[in-house]
Amino acid sequence: MPRPTKWRCVGYMPQVNFFMPAGVSLPLLEEICLSVEEVEAIRLRDLEGLDQERCAQKMRVSRTTFHRILGSARKKLADALFNGKAFRIEGGNFELALRRFRCNHDGYEWQVSFDTMITNPPRDCPNCHSTDIVSLPPFKYGWSNGRR
Ligand SMILES: [Zn+2]
Repeated sequence: MPRPTKWRCVGYMPQVNFFMPAGVSLPLLEEICLSVEEVEAIRLRDLEGLDQERCAQKMRVSRTTFHRILGSARKKLADALFNGKAFRIEGGNFELALRRFRCNHDGYEWQVSFDTMITNPPRDCPNCHSTDIVSLPPFKYGWSNGRR
């Protein structure tokens, strides 16, 4: 029986999803695949400097699971860095902790994090300041083992 999908919560979707070393010819290039959860673990722990407890809470996983995701991410990054490999960010099972909004006046769309939703929910369009805005359904991504 297949294991049920565990949805992790991710607060940021990477804008750049492929990195490669300069000066390596393409046929020789090896590629590593990082899941979006792994990148999120690095972002929370190493970029934002949150402690593991808080990181695990944010991703809605146990500390053990967070530790495992982070360890795997760091290992892959080190491999890419020291062995001159490219890396691609894709796959994983996660729910984006963002709400999308759309302005009915000019069609402008933007994203608001859950933290902002609680402290300062949007009241008007950041583009034209119309108050005719709607909330769109959240993104949900699910790729198994990096395969779409
Ligand atoms: Zn607008």
